Amino acid sequence: MAKLISRPNMTAAEAMYVPEIAKGLGITIGRFFKNTFSSRGTEGNEIDTIDYPEERRTYPERFRGIHRLTHRADGSPRCVACLCCSTACPAQCIHIEAAEYPQGDARHGYERFPKVFVIDELRCIFCGFCVEACPCDAIRMDSGLHMPPSTQRAHFIFDKEMLMAIPAADGSFETKNPRHEPGDPTHPGVDREHHH
Ligand code: SF4
Ligand code: SF4
Repeated sequence: MAKLISRPNMTAAEAMYVPEIAKGLGITIGRFFKNTFSSRGTEGNEIDTIDYPEERRTYPERFRGIHRLTHRADGSPRCVACLCCSTACPAQCIHIEAAEYPQGDARHGYERFPKVFVIDELRCIFCGFCVEACPCDAIRMDSGLHMPPSTQRAHFIFDKEMLMAIPAADGSFETKNPRHEPGDPTHPGVDREHHH
């Protein structure tokens, strides 16, 4: 059953609308002058914006920033080109081409490396699934940086060299998680060619 709502009683001024519109504009203009000519931080100032990029907010510790590819001790990427991240990525914005380490390298036959690793940061939705999916702690979003604005599409395409040149917020390129390199005495010694 429809509910009847009675009309509000309006005064003659309200019924004419014009005085009410003028009253609303008065409030808007008043706030404009108050916020334009008062200094931030002073009493009565209600501006909640900052002068970016001169001023920057401190991001929370777990802020998901631009990706970075972490390094091994020798400066090579920790990534083994397993494609777990690109498979997990709901935006399908990661492109990886795997390659084999050369003969003689302890990693040959055991793990591969990304010959090409590209992230389209414009398509990325910063969900963090790639970081969660990575078994090697090779991709992280702890750079503390957000994507700078740009009008050029190409600026959002981050290749391997670019991703490896981005440090963590603390300036490091590695991670605190230990890694047992093939060839190390601590490594189990299993590889794709010899198995157990
Ligand atoms: S953060 Fe999400 S959308 Fe962005 S690259 Fe990683 S998995 Fe893809
Ligand atoms: S970043 Fe991690 S999940 Fe992605 S391909 Fe490299 S090792 Fe695999």
